[in-house]
Amino acid sequence: MNEFSLLFLFMLALATTVQLWLLKRQRVHVATHRQAVPKEFEQAVSLEAHQKAADYTRAKTGVTSIELIYGTILLILWTLGGGLQLLDNIWRSFELSPLLTGTGFMLTVFLAMSLLELPFSLYRTFNLEQRFGFNRNTPKLFIIDSLKQVLLMLLIGGPFAALVLWLMSPSEADSGRLARENWWLYVWSVWMGFSLLMMWAYPAIIAPLFNKFNPLEDSALEQRIRQLLERCGFAYQGVFVMDGSRRSSHGNAYFTGLGNNKRIVFFDTLLKSLKPEEIEAVLAHELGHFRRKHVLKHMLVMAAMSFISLLILGALIEKDWFYTELGMSQPSLHAGLLLFLLIMPVFTFFIQPLMARTMRKHEFEADDFAAEQADANHLISALVKLYEENASTLTPDPLFSAFHDSHPPAPVRIAHLSAKT
Ligand SMILES: [Zn+2]
Repeated sequence: MNEFSLLFLFMLALATTVQLWLLKRQRVHVATHRQAVPKEFEQAVSLEAHQKAADYTRAKTGVTSIELIYGTILLILWTLGGGLQLLDNIWRSFELSPLLTGTGFMLTVFLAMSLLELPFSLYRTFNLEQRFGFNRNTPKLFIIDSLKQVLLMLLIGGPFAALVLWLMSPSEADSGRLARENWWLYVWSVWMGFSLLMMWAYPAIIAPLFNKFNPLEDSALEQRIRQLLERCGFAYQGVFVMDGSRRSSHGNAYFTGLGNNKRIVFFDTLLKSLKPEEIEAVLAHELGHFRRKHVLKHMLVMAAMSFISLLILGALIEKDWFYTELGMSQPSLHAGLLLFLLIMPVFTFFIQPLMARTMRKHEFEADDFAAEQADANHLISALVKLYEENASTLTPDPLFSAFHDSHPPAPVRIAHLSAKT
């Protein structure tokens, strides 16, 4: 009996084919519209910039396609190909306690996965981004970053994996079961608490390990921002400038943190290219996400999805076929967790367009908020500058965009904002 193996392979093939087809559509669509700047952007964007965006988009989708095929092959090798089984055998041969075996196994898999992804992140940074003039990273900084990431994974991921496995371990009342009864409910609660803690701690503890954050010094701009925040009744911990230019010339702005630990972060690259009134409009958009409760909604959706996922895993983890049909001979807590984490995206892949649609709806709502609190024209000019400087395509394939894009296609978004002026 190997119905589940076949179902898994079928879903994997389907998801990979659909994604490759969408990427191909995107490449073709961008290439067909390469010759002319779309009418509504003719004034603001040069043909040269438009063609750079087209070439950059095509190069990026090309790498993504190869990475997708590579990831699909790796997933088969990990599961049915026996990769996980091999690592499990090695860890079991050390004859440590189940908790240490499980934690060691999980950390080794995560470490191996990041190593296997390394060629792609190297290629993206030092070839793709370099070719289009976006890369500011150096090999030295890249290595330091990678080492820090591994260290963080061991320091945070290690204890957390051990905690989860400990919560799952059966007690004496669970004889005949692999895992404690209702373990998934405990793990879900701990996972939620951990996520909130990380959201709170990230801006203060983790982000500064990778970047410098200095308080915004431009006092005229600071005053403008403070007035906007007061107008919107927004409590925050400060406006910071991040040295994003250390690694890339792409510009961005974001909100981070939780409760009274909220921060506003501007990349130095963004501040350089936008006028104060444009920065105010971008900030008003970001504030819109908070005021329309998008962050909270996102957190609630994630909480509900992880609840359902863990509920399903609660049933699967006791079934022998779940392991054998995915290439592992011996059921265990750590094998169950890891198999589930690996194969889940294959089965939830088709939820993606729904999520992307909700996110695009939120972008429109945040734009509406920005148009009320600031000037829609300034947001338009800021967005056009950002599209141009980041070489974002103005002509995405409609189907690709509907499936993947968290932001509305440029022409649609600008038209929506223009109607508010
Ligand atoms: Zn937004």
